[in-house]
Amino acid sequence: MINSKKLLSILKKTNLANNKCFYSSRTDAVLKGFTASIGNTPLVKLEKISKEANCNILVKCEYMNPGGSVKDRAALFLIKDAIRSKKIAHLPQKDAPVPTIVEGTAGNTGIGLLHICNSLGFKCQIFMPNNQSKEKIEYLQTLGAQISQFPVVPFTDPNNYNHKAREFAEKTPNAVWTNQFDNVQNRQAHIETTGPEIWNQTGGKVDAIVFGAGTGGTLGGCSIYLKEKNKNIQVFSADPQGSVLYKYYKHGKLERTEGSSITEGIGQGRITDNLKDAPIDDGLFVNDIDAVKMTFRLLHEEGFFVGATSGLNVAAAVQVAKLIGPGKTIVTCLCDTGSKYMNRLYSKSELEKRNLIEAVPAEYRQFLKP
Ligand code: PMP
Repeated sequence: MINSKKLLSILKKTNLANNKCFYSSRTDAVLKGFTASIGNTPLVKLEKISKEANCNILVKCEYMNPGGSVKDRAALFLIKDAIRSKKIAHLPQKDAPVPTIVEGTAGNTGIGLLHICNSLGFKCQIFMPNNQSKEKIEYLQTLGAQISQFPVVPFTDPNNYNHKAREFAEKTPNAVWTNQFDNVQNRQAHIETTGPEIWNQTGGKVDAIVFGAGTGGTLGGCSIYLKEKNKNIQVFSADPQGSVLYKYYKHGKLERTEGSSITEGIGQGRITDNLKDAPIDDGLFVNDIDAVKMTFRLLHEEGFFVGATSGLNVAAAVQVAKLIGPGKTIVTCLCDTGSKYMNRLYSKSELEKRNLIEAVPAEYRQFLKP
């Protein structure tokens, strides 16, 4: 194992001790490495949807992060924390085991972690339930992931894939379980980056924010930062079918809404540490029909090819517009790209199977993959 003195000198040399290496502005300047290209995404006004809603609906283009999603930000802060707090010794050394990042994820966090691990020379071990699509597994394998799969059991069961990830990290030298759900470095990414970007890009002229939550990092972090800047900014949680957050933020009850959702990466069964004590004013519910309809409108009317959580976010922003009145500015985000969902959200047969084909406006159905 590298001793801490040596580690610090390595960090200095490679600039990893310096926040600037991890996070710098998207400017005309040449950026230093993959990690520096994370964040500073554009904030765009949806022209047609804003006009209809009689509000300014602004979207942070998180799909433009280099790993393709909002989760690049969290992945960066989780790894940065592991290095800074010396949970792993950085940089592969001749006689030391290669640093290994371990996480329970089947989705965007895993993708973000893999990109960053590759850029730093780390290994990445992904733990996931064994019901995930072949495409997702192949995608992660192509990025270089070592993958372990486990039967689907609830979080309370010791055989849940997240506990397996923790156990693996505990017995592997120079490995760390980054624990995206309850490690608040996840929301810290949004306190230090997404929140300030929204504030600066709007010149402080923002009336409300609304986000769906998976870990709650985006919603928790942005709410903490923006309420601190102006306590009058209203914060809404947007929840899909089958999750507890809508009833929790609406009525204080930890109770699921009915069904399950085509959205992937949002919805929750508990209040994660990233959501704990976050200043959230109200809960909104968006059913799959509205989320899917908006996702197709984003593609064919506004030009954005994104996943269903982005559609859900924008559908929720339209609900907020009705609640807070005309002329207001509402910010949400487009979380990831649509290309990952070709065999589900953008497939005619899949939408038919889920009784969601009617959600796609008739004139756009001809473009669906059969
Ligand atoms: N949308 C997508 C596509 C995601 O993968 C995630 C993260 N699971 C989210 C939204 C929600 O982000 P967060 O974990 O910050 O709540």
